Amino acid sequence: MSVKLFIPGPVDVEADVLEKLATPQIGHRSKEASDLQGRIAEKLQKLMFTKNLIILSTSSGSGIMEMSIRSCTKKRAAVFSVGAFGDRWYKMATTNNIPADHFKSEPGMPTTPQMVEEALKTGKYDVVTVTHNETSAGLMNPVHEIGEVIKKYPDVIYLVDAVSSLGGAKIEADKAGIDVLLSSTQKSLGVPPGLAMASVSEKAIERAKTVENRGFYLDLVNVAKKAQEKNQYPTTPATPHMWALDYKLDKILNQEGLENRFNRHAKLAQIVRDWANKYFALYAKEGYYSNTVTTIMNTKGHSVADLNKELGKRGYMISNGYGDLKEKAFRIAHMADRTEEDLQALLREIEDIWNL
Ligand SMILES: *Cc1c(COP(=O)(O)O)cnc(C)c1O
Repeated sequence: MSVKLFIPGPVDVEADVLEKLATPQIGHRSKEASDLQGRIAEKLQKLMFTKNLIILSTSSGSGIMEMSIRSCTKKRAAVFSVGAFGDRWYKMATTNNIPADHFKSEPGMPTTPQMVEEALKTGKYDVVTVTHNETSAGLMNPVHEIGEVIKKYPDVIYLVDAVSSLGGAKIEADKAGIDVLLSSTQKSLGVPPGLAMASVSEKAIERAKTVENRGFYLDLVNVAKKAQEKNQYPTTPATPHMWALDYKLDKILNQEGLENRFNRHAKLAQIVRDWANKYFALYAKEGYYSNTVTTIMNTKGHSVADLNKELGKRGYMISNGYGDLKEKAFRIAHMADRTEEDLQALLREIEDIWNL
């Protein structure tokens, strides 16, 4: 039986978007392929509030995380982490032989502009990585305020992971001075997994040209060059996903509208927070709550695994806590195309199962 997914990706995909995956195949060196990538790029520029080049990657979002930290770090990367996905950047650095330092916040606390300033003042770093929306913690970092600090250090490249927030929250890449703003299809955008995208500044590309051993498949310079020159991709891209993404971006921009979409996410998030505060507690510090996924402390000590089993029988799925937070917390995602009606129905089922 298919269940309604309230997990932070992959999310349910609308039937008309899914149908686009069945578009007849095209040659990836054809004008049609260039036109398709060009249209996607234009729409992503609107969604990311940027004039920068848009690249696609036939990988999940982690592919562009690895591409950007490996291609842009010449000196040393300052990796800021507020949870599992922030830690992933550090793992990517160390496994690629990239000099990096790991700045972890206390549980539930954000990466602050002050922390970034302290690190950059040392002059040791030429890359900063920040997770916009930490999916394990249900926490959104102040990427715009952090950007104001980074602007004072013109040699620093600013990499932002917006995998679970792009399409669900407003991120103004150019205003924040973000050099690489990356995301994946399968979270707030509501497209099946298998493709990733990013905006890339000229500064990031110029830096990458000076870095040796960028690898082949995930070489930012090569991917950017093909996108810039021909609106194409160096290897064979996931064209079925491109058709679906192109179509979905039209729906986001023209049918629902960006502001409406961001407001809907904010409203759903508020409903879950109010509910969580009534019965449980929130993991993230107030002021830094995520608008696409909420991490709720399991203060009553019920079994989250059993809850999910029972929810499955009733047609729903939520997420357990991530990593160390397993069973200590649970997560309800409210991203992509979930509605208030869906969400209220889920919350009533949880109340019923746990006798709240
Ligand atoms: C899901 C997620 C990732 C990993 O994305 P993939 O597309 O699975 O590679 C990275 N960062 C965040 C914040 C995520 O939520």
